[in-house]
Amino acid sequence: MADLNTPLSAILGSRTTKPLEKAFEIRTIGDLLRHYPRRMDERGELTDLASLRVDEDVTVMAEVRSCVERDYRNQSTGRRDVRIEATVSDGRGSLQLVFFGGRNRWRTRDLVPGTLGLFSGKVGEFRSRRQLIHPDYMILQSTDMAMQEADVFARRLIAVYPATKDVRSWTIANSVGIALDSLGHITDPLPDELRARHGLMGLDAAIRAMHQPDDRDQWFAARRRLKWDEALLVQLVLAQRRARAAANPATPRPPRAGGVLDAFDARLPFTLTAGQREVGAVLSEEIAAAHPMHRLLQGEVGSGKTVVALRAMLQVVDAGGQAALLAPTEVLAAQHARTIEELLGPLARAGQLGGADVGTRVALLTGSLGAAARKSALLDAAGGAAGIVVGTHALIQEQVQFAELGLVVVDEQHRFGVEQRDALRGKAERPPHVLVMTATPIPRTVAMTVFGDLDTSTLAELPAGRAPISTAVVPVAERPTWLERAWARVREEVAAGHQAFVVCPRIGADLSETEAELDAELGPFADEPRQRRPPLAVLDIAPMLVEGPLAGLRLGVLHGRLLPDEKDRVMGDFAAGRLDVLVATTVVEVGVDVPNATVMAVLDAERFGVSQLHQLRGRIGRGSAPGVCLLVTEAGEGSPSRARLDAIAATTDGFALARLDVEQRREGDVLGAAQSGRRSQLRLLSLLRDEDLIVAARAEASELVARDPELSAFPALAAELAVLQADERTSYLDKA
Ligand code: ADP
Ligand code: MG
Repeated sequence: MADLNTPLSAILGSRTTKPLEKAFEIRTIGDLLRHYPRRMDERGELTDLASLRVDEDVTVMAEVRSCVERDYRNQSTGRRDVRIEATVSDGRGSLQLVFFGGRNRWRTRDLVPGTLGLFSGKVGEFRSRRQLIHPDYMILQSTDMAMQEADVFARRLIAVYPATKDVRSWTIANSVGIALDSLGHITDPLPDELRARHGLMGLDAAIRAMHQPDDRDQWFAARRRLKWDEALLVQLVLAQRRARAAANPATPRPPRAGGVLDAFDARLPFTLTAGQREVGAVLSEEIAAAHPMHRLLQGEVGSGKTVVALRAMLQVVDAGGQAALLAPTEVLAAQHARTIEELLGPLARAGQLGGADVGTRVALLTGSLGAAARKSALLDAAGGAAGIVVGTHALIQEQVQFAELGLVVVDEQHRFGVEQRDALRGKAERPPHVLVMTATPIPRTVAMTVFGDLDTSTLAELPAGRAPISTAVVPVAERPTWLERAWARVREEVAAGHQAFVVCPRIGADLSETEAELDAELGPFADEPRQRRPPLAVLDIAPMLVEGPLAGLRLGVLHGRLLPDEKDRVMGDFAAGRLDVLVATTVVEVGVDVPNATVMAVLDAERFGVSQLHQLRGRIGRGSAPGVCLLVTEAGEGSPSRARLDAIAATTDGFALARLDVEQRREGDVLGAAQSGRRSQLRLLSLLRDEDLIVAARAEASELVARDPELSAFPALAAELAVLQADERTSYLDKA
């Protein structure tokens, strides 16, 4: 008897196995059986032909209505020839099948009106009629009753597989049929009582029903069972990872009365929100424990995560340790260093003139630091003089040493991979405590999967006294005058003593700008078809504004190609109010904190993703004056882009927008490149739609691992986990 590891070549000929391997990397029976049908068609329930899109590769079930032979003149040979034209229908719309050449005459015997078949090919269009040229087909029910139907297609439900032009859906169905016939019973790795608890069918039955169900209910039950496997395996990996990390020893960093943290709290110019206090207490306790903290802090844009993190860092400093703060960009790292120094005041000048009795020092370490500055920052980190070291990923480089790294804070985690977190963690003798912060609210299940090895806290409320942000879409195509109104609005805000951002999708000017750079700036929607003109560019828009609608205002320009100290200078000038308007790319997307900025105009707004716009918008309304965000777009009424912008304008609820964002992007993008390995394990599971299932699987996984860390009572399950972990695509999962 064959098993899941049996090569397909043992049961099928190379004419079938070669294309399967080439198209889908299917080599074993197991690979084939994990190539799940996309849908189940019901015999006789015809495909809605109106839903077909040009250029799509489709498999449709339809009935032949007519089939005729036509003469035509072959354009290239000039000779007269014959083509066979059949029309198939779903009862409403129709689709044309075309075969060129007299040698296709025999097809008229297949395609007799009334015949039911599956037809596969790429949808084309000719004289505004949909057609398939030289489609492949499989006759399901011939009007000629003598004709034998293939066994697979005698079933009521017909599996439609992801297919290509070399491997048609029915070829896969046939191969699956042969595989299932030659396969022995598949052992179920799941513990029986878990299966019973959640009413899951056995693995053997599920695999068979996934491909050849008796009815739809059975198919759904099979899908549910197989989704469970996916969810449980991922959650087991994460649970084991959590368990191992928690078993590590860490140096406890308990709070110290009369230390820097107390002094800091005493000089804080505002009172902490209830949420900040609660999360602060959790962090304080976990940092004081003898096992490393691994926590994700989610917080709405502007909810005040920095202060929470800083207080945790100061507790570590008080206990004789150092804290590293990792930021995704140089602009952000520099701003963090500046903010922290400001918040600390004299407390950040330990050992210096004017410094407080208790205190520490803040070092900034970025890739582009001058040699001298770099050397002194490295010394401060290695010698321990700097209690807080702020930097970009340059912090992860080999040469950077810490005297006593006790806490790693990663800001805006979505920009970092798990690997980087691990690399930094490796810089301490004993595993440091880790706090990851993200301002992009992520749906709970995504958090459970992408950040599944972390415990989660959320800062839901904004500090009191925040003025609301209103958002308006400015549709320049339909209402060109609204653009003038938008610039007038910017001038009004500036006249009232406030400041403005103007955001463009592109830097511009330099011809050396590559597509890759462009894509990086465009984000998730870069793969939408390029539109009529290139995206608006900072370097084109800024001079236009200076000469036109914003003449007389003080404009600065900020983008990723500026040298680091130029960037610093511009940001510093804007923060200090020496600039009225900052024309920038998405470098200002995250974290930039200038409370006096009250208006933002985003040009070509449709070029940005949902969470990007939400982040951008978070740059305004950070003070007490109300903010206005103007989404300027050429996207026409009724277009998907416009709908997206309208949705963003309608709410500032980050969690609602996060869902919208995930719905609009492929989930793989949500997980990010670093997580794509994990994604590849998820064939059926949807992080959005299967929330209940994921939550239940996570609970089961934690429970299992708590009772039996290495799953020795469930060898089959342990073996599957081992395979998953050995898989190089997921090896990063277990670096800790
Ligand atoms: P984010 O969570 O987006 O990183 P920040 O930490 O940058 O938010 O905080 C946004 C602004 O709110 C900062 O200017 C910060 O000083 C201020 N802030 C933080 N906590 C409070 C509070 N409890 N009351 C008033 N202002 C606060
Ligand atoms: Mg922040």
